[in-house]
Amino acid sequence: ADKGVVKWTYTTCGYCSTGCSIEVGSNAEGKAVATRGVGGADVNRGKLCLKGIFEYQVFEAQGRGEQPLLRDAVHEPYRKVGWDAALDKMASEIERIQAAYGRDAFAIVSTGQLLTEEFYTLGKLARGVIGSNNYDGNTTLCMASAVSGYKRSFGSDGPPGCYEDFEHTHCLIAWGSNLPEQHPIIYWRLKEAMEKRKFPLIVVDPRVTMLAQFADIHLPITPGTDVVLQNALIHVILAEGLEDRDYIEANTTGFEELAKEVQNYDPTTASKLCGIDEDTIRTVARLYANAPRAMSIWTMGINQSTHGSDGVVGINNLNLVTGNIGKPGGTSLSITGQCNAMGTREWSSCSGLPGYRVLEKPEEREEIAKFWGIDPEFFPKQRGLAETDIFPAIETGQIKGLWLVATNPMTSMPNTARIRKTLEKLECLVVQDSYADVETTQYAHIYLPAATWAEKEGVFTNTERRVNLTRQVRKPYGDSKSDLQIFNELATRFEQGRKIKFPEQPSEVFEEMKQLSKGRLVDISGMSHELIEEKRGIQWPYSEQQAQQGVEKGNQRLYTETATFRYKDGRAKLIPLPFVNNNEVPDAEYPLWLNSGRLVEHWHTRTKTGKIGNNNKFSPMPFMEMNPDAAAEMNIRHQTYVRVVSRRGDAVVMVMLTQRVPRNMVFIPFHFFDCVNRLTLGLLDPHSRQPAFKQQAVRIEHI
Ligand code: SF4
Repeated sequence: ADKGVVKWTYTTCGYCSTGCSIEVGSNAEGKAVATRGVGGADVNRGKLCLKGIFEYQVFEAQGRGEQPLLRDAVHEPYRKVGWDAALDKMASEIERIQAAYGRDAFAIVSTGQLLTEEFYTLGKLARGVIGSNNYDGNTTLCMASAVSGYKRSFGSDGPPGCYEDFEHTHCLIAWGSNLPEQHPIIYWRLKEAMEKRKFPLIVVDPRVTMLAQFADIHLPITPGTDVVLQNALIHVILAEGLEDRDYIEANTTGFEELAKEVQNYDPTTASKLCGIDEDTIRTVARLYANAPRAMSIWTMGINQSTHGSDGVVGINNLNLVTGNIGKPGGTSLSITGQCNAMGTREWSSCSGLPGYRVLEKPEEREEIAKFWGIDPEFFPKQRGLAETDIFPAIETGQIKGLWLVATNPMTSMPNTARIRKTLEKLECLVVQDSYADVETTQYAHIYLPAATWAEKEGVFTNTERRVNLTRQVRKPYGDSKSDLQIFNELATRFEQGRKIKFPEQPSEVFEEMKQLSKGRLVDISGMSHELIEEKRGIQWPYSEQQAQQGVEKGNQRLYTETATFRYKDGRAKLIPLPFVNNNEVPDAEYPLWLNSGRLVEHWHTRTKTGKIGNNNKFSPMPFMEMNPDAAAEMNIRHQTYVRVVSRRGDAVVMVMLTQRVPRNMVFIPFHFFDCVNRLTLGLLDPHSRQPAFKQQAVRIEHI
């Protein structure tokens, strides 16, 4: 319908990591009234999912923050204040807490929702000015295991593949990834590729997800046992001589150790642990190893686990032994969560320093310190606490102040009753968010209203390393400011902040990042905002030299040549993965597995989509999927309410009877406040510190 659009502005979707190119239509009054997919764009080719179609509504949705708010104690009402009062108070609280308890007593948690220029600037502020080592991102809840697994296998983070690999592969395994709901446009790309050229789709997931319904083979694995299945697949491949010996010899180390470990996982033994029958294990191993090119994708089913990092390494092991890395259709592709989870990994300094540098290397600390004009000794020598360790450190009194940037732990963290008590202990909590009504604001002393998505300008990096541009569509809502402006204005309130250059314009920040990227894996030195818009996104690495030579596109794949991995010897590591069952498993008292995940209509804690009519209309309330046979045994009927109880707490939900879950499992979506995360335990992966959201035990009670 004609909505009176007089201008279309190019931007990139601000929800999931697919990275769709979008145009936002504005009417004569400058109001955003429509969204449409960009035809011909490399990623989405004119398509959008439900969230993208209604994304123009986020700007004026209910609950937007208009003005900074301040109060001295959380039981007092907020006072509306100006920006100077709010930022002066925040700076003085940071200085007071750091003077009294030490620099690391003030912690910062950011998000995968910021623009990359904002991440970089926040990193400069956190590492170079405030100087707290307890700085992390909410990406610890979604991508930390992928980062950790890539680093352990390849010597660096950075997904080696791309969406176009669907068009070249001959076999695809999706591990704990439900594309039609989580990444609908990536699913559409996969489906399009499968329609053109049939190849087997194998889905590993305890639920019969939407993707599992389209699979040629569905492996309903016992929760938390992916490593067992991976070891068993490699066992069969080696036992039958199906490995790619030439590739292994030229590109890897550790083969003998891996071969020895997988001897323990013959299909008979593995089947008892992971619940997949022996013949199916053998069939899948043969299909994968015999395919000329095979690829694996994964999402939270792997990452959100006590052995998430091992699960990623296991996928990499499988691809390395079959020679499937860096080849068209042969890859190991982590499907990222948030629109800019990759940007935070590359540039934010959460776990290190910008451009995939680490605090542990003196030469990398020196490089950044020199570039920013500070003393390298100001930097810590090793990474501080992850987000999931910051909250326990608040409990123990080690951390007294916390700044949350666009993240809502009262809904998103496991065991929210504990999070609530934790937040109450803080001497100062600052919440910076586009919406004033996020649940965590109840516990804040200072609220800073931030501009959202296309109210500002900058880049996102998507799942396939594509840097794409978000142009400003309209001015920030009310008196809110861009996150970049907030970081810059806060920096000027510190003596060290006044000594360091904080560029005002996103394009100037991008120029700084380009300088720091030269010669790194994440080389963006050939890009500019204008070129990115013209090309509808460019995949890194894309160097200055490539741009000068007129190379049209960035690099679609990493590790395409022999021995180009990021370890010193250029080889990838094959890592043995002994399985340790450390999950909370069902027992007589809590007899059912609890699984959680995402719905197509909603985004994260519904801060945005809970306010948008069409998204909310299709999915207005939480529910629990339950198997009809299990429900019949308990005399539970469809659409009745039950109490779900775990060792942490309870939640009341409506029952939806469905065969999508097995008899011994229930599933509750994670988006809703005071619901599934009252029940989750959140045991941590030892490598990534990512919590297990999908493997815990509950019981059902009638109410
Ligand atoms: Fe946005 Fe993801 Fe939907 Fe694309 S698939 S429109 S990036 S939410």
